[in-house]
Amino acid sequence: MEDATILDFEFEAHTNPRTGDDRAAILANPGFGKVFTDHMAVIRYSADKGWHDARIQPYAPLQIDPACAVLHYAQEIFEGLKAYRLPDGGAALFRPEENARRFRESAERMAMAPLPEELFLASIRELVKADRDWIPEGEGASLYLRPFMFASETFLGVKPASEYLYLVIASPAGAYFKGGAPSVTLWVSDHYTRAAPGGTGAAKCGGNYAASLVAQAEAIRQGCDQVVFLDAVENRYVEELGGMNVFFVFDDGSISTPPLSGTILPGITRESLITLARGAGVEVREERYSIDQWRDDAKSGRLREAFACGTAAVVTPIGAVRGNGFEFQIGNGGPGMLTERLREQLVGIQRGVAPDPHGWLERLF
Ligand SMILES: *Cc1c(COP(=O)(O)O)cnc(C)c1O
Repeated sequence: MEDATILDFEFEAHTNPRTGDDRAAILANPGFGKVFTDHMAVIRYSADKGWHDARIQPYAPLQIDPACAVLHYAQEIFEGLKAYRLPDGGAALFRPEENARRFRESAERMAMAPLPEELFLASIRELVKADRDWIPEGEGASLYLRPFMFASETFLGVKPASEYLYLVIASPAGAYFKGGAPSVTLWVSDHYTRAAPGGTGAAKCGGNYAASLVAQAEAIRQGCDQVVFLDAVENRYVEELGGMNVFFVFDDGSISTPPLSGTILPGITRESLITLARGAGVEVREERYSIDQWRDDAKSGRLREAFACGTAAVVTPIGAVRGNGFEFQIGNGGPGMLTERLREQLVGIQRGVAPDPHGWLERLF
């Protein structure tokens, strides 16, 4: 069965969308991930028909059979990206083709039908155009887009499903942190790991998050903001947070980040920051860095700054790190200079207020 790479999206307008006043009230204070726009994108896959039935339709609950495969064996993947309001009132996406590629790679790892990248991109473009009035304005605000796909076959047998449902929902998001990101304190998990070699660490799947929540809850119980995971083999090398990659900044002006070894999610923010830093003449190393080295370097002053990064919170300074029997501060505990510079450079490109030498922005309208 040949998959149509481009399907036409059938548009079914919401018959009772939120009023302009309701929308304005929501956009004035959207929070994160709680309110959704009037429409959603849906595409179906079955082994016999391939990808078919592409639609933009009213946002509404799904009806799921209790024997739906995803509810039992967790064949599910997702993406996260944002539409940004441009200074002239238009809107743009940031490197959406990278999300399309990663979504396909996640699908392959989870033995799911890979969605053609052009279809992924078309679904995003069509949904944002349909709900264009939902993109908030203002510093740090955006329309957060959540593409996801799950095994929708009704069958309890253990095997890759033969039917999938792909959807995109959109949620207006305010500044993740108002007035610049405050520093976070990390908790080093010493008995939970996020991903092992050969596992699903490099796939953006819900199961990775399910497995990380108990460690994240432990971090909160310990008075910290986020958990940071060490490698599963030696329990020494820093990997990443539950949903963000991590960078270290040294006193010689160089930076490092853990290498993509298969157990780390290949963040698009991570890759963009590496490119921006190198473009600014900063030496960037992708190398393993142990928790002991981190503690020693923070104490000696060799390590000056550290930050986490990802689409949702962009760049988040790390102020302190705690674990069983130890605690150390990074720099003066506040956001570092290079951290701030990189964040501003990236945000400037995303908002269309800084030059975009790499052609990362895709203007939608
Ligand atoms: C999505 C994600 C990231 C960040 O990726 P971006 O493409 O930068 O948003 C980092 N780690 C994990 C585990 C993730 O799921």
